[in-house]
Amino acid sequence: MTAAQIVTRIAPSPTGFMHIGTARAALFNWLYARGRGGKFLLRIEDTDRERSTDEATQAILNGLTWLGLDWDGDAVSQFARADRHADIANEMLASGAAYKCFSTQEEIQAFREAARAEGKSTLFQSPWRDADATTHPDAPYVVRLRAPRDGATVVNDEIQGEVTFQNANLDDMVLLRSDGTPTYMLAVVVDDHDMGVTHVIRGDDHLNNAARQIQIYNAMSWPLPVYAHMPLVHGDDGKKLSKRHGATGVEEYRDMGYPAAAMRNYLTRLGWSHGDDEFFSDEQARAWFDLSGIGKAPARLDMKKLNNISGQH
Ligand code: GLU
Repeated sequence: MTAAQIVTRIAPSPTGFMHIGTARAALFNWLYARGRGGKFLLRIEDTDRERSTDEATQAILNGLTWLGLDWDGDAVSQFARADRHADIANEMLASGAAYKCFSTQEEIQAFREAARAEGKSTLFQSPWRDADATTHPDAPYVVRLRAPRDGATVVNDEIQGEVTFQNANLDDMVLLRSDGTPTYMLAVVVDDHDMGVTHVIRGDDHLNNAARQIQIYNAMSWPLPVYAHMPLVHGDDGKKLSKRHGATGVEEYRDMGYPAAAMRNYLTRLGWSHGDDEFFSDEQARAWFDLSGIGKAPARLDMKKLNNISGQH
């Protein structure tokens, strides 16, 4: 791998069917990488053991395969990497970038209530942030990031522009829970770093998470990826896509008989445009796809357009 190679990924949580928004995110990441001689990786974010299922993982693999979106290497299980995540949290403890917090849920609750009563910020400020290790009790603890208190964290986003988050509004996030399991924030950053991901292209529901994730990258002195947070897919009424809009799972379209090529063409145009071009070949899509063509307004699912492209329904 050369330093300049583009590496993208999708990181779906296997907790249901494959949402059309996930399929579009996969396609955009695939197009971006494939059009630039880069790699497209797949990571299954299966850390939520109660909600993750093998069927949902299979639905993701099937959906990607049906759409012709091949990924490089094996699909990575995030859960299988928990030890690595914990190692990094421990490295951060050793360097002072993180600290052990022994506050109980009740204490955190009491802190918030007192702050509310005094009209102060209810953002939890752990008393353990500056505690001397010799005072640590023999009790369960979480590992928290020693987040910067002053200044701001800026997400330089290819779609959203420069988005500034005041550090005073970001708490010392938990990296490791008291049972030693990593949080989503830590796992994503460690995995993206280890997998060499250069571009994170995902839904803008993750924009706030990007600020937190940047704080972890900075604490580790790791280079930041390029971020591109795209507006979500909405239904034709402008509301967030849900079951009441009809099919929202990519396999439903497959089962209804829509050709994969039509679906791919349609998804490519869902929030991305290339001048007035309506139809293009796979080669053109790969050659033309760029982040600057992604719109700033939510894309709308338009079944008429899909039916038009597929010419079958
Ligand atoms: N697992 C997250 C999701 O399914 C994606 C996280 C990411 O792309 O960074 O929404």
